Amino acid sequence: MTRRNFLSGLSVDRQAHVRTDPERLRQLWESPAARVLPVWRSKHIVISSSRAPEIVFLSVQPFVDELECATLLGQADGLAYFALDVSRFEEPHRELALAGEHDIVGLREVAPIISHADGALLAYANGMMSWHRRHLFCGACGAATSVSQAGHQRDCSQCGVVHFPRTDPAVIMLVTRGERCLLGRQASWPDKVYSTLAGFVEPGESLEEAVAREVKEESGIVVEDVRYHSSQPWPFPSSLMLGFTAIAKTERIEPQMDELEDARWVSREEILEGSAVALPSKISIARRLIEDWLESAGRAR
Ligand SMILES: [Zn+2]
Repeated sequence: MTRRNFLSGLSVDRQAHVRTDPERLRQLWESPAARVLPVWRSKHIVISSSRAPEIVFLSVQPFVDELECATLLGQADGLAYFALDVSRFEEPHRELALAGEHDIVGLREVAPIISHADGALLAYANGMMSWHRRHLFCGACGAATSVSQAGHQRDCSQCGVVHFPRTDPAVIMLVTRGERCLLGRQASWPDKVYSTLAGFVEPGESLEEAVAREVKEESGIVVEDVRYHSSQPWPFPSSLMLGFTAIAKTERIEPQMDELEDARWVSREEILEGSAVALPSKISIARRLIEDWLESAGRAR
């Protein structure tokens, strides 16, 4: 793989050893090198600009008593980055006293126009904050949990179970048959948008089995030669997309479950010409799988 997928390529060193060193953690938090990356209701604050937007980092000072709510993301270039959920503010621009023009944007919206490293940092912060919001209570006994390990663990106050950040594996696959690939669309997507098939890995299943099962369920197509391509963090809210290619052994589309509005074979020409189908978001691994296939065809000719 020569290119990184969007939302990967973090340039911050995660410094996992600091998570278990409360003294060092506090030193970093209280040092001038500390920077707070605010996450507001799953969105991000950026400086508005005619050029590429810039991520807003805040000083620790207004949050100095909130170390136990912060998540250490890591260190880079002498700075220590912490993520903090600031969703409690109704008007973050005003309440955080941000100077100048700012926008509050979703990760999907901003990722295509910032660097991969910045996109990865936002994805990391966003994923961690979603995990905290969804694990305030213990899944084993229902009691409240509290943050530990610099935001990388939650401990149950009653039964003692420790909870770690979740990453749910999902497979996403480009299935091809000669000069055509298998794409599908969900009813909720914008007009004409077709994408690769995808689905969550189920317990008791290998990745390649998940690929074959999802393709069969969504299209009725039987695949072989399942090969790993690349992966991508997808914190909406907590997926890891595992990209594969596969070759179709059958041709007739007969969905077993109505997860998709439509599934069809699409030729390279139809994709390149662009009138019949529109491709998914530039930041998605689905787009990458399709584009790599188009490029490999170009090279082969
Ligand atoms: Zn518990």
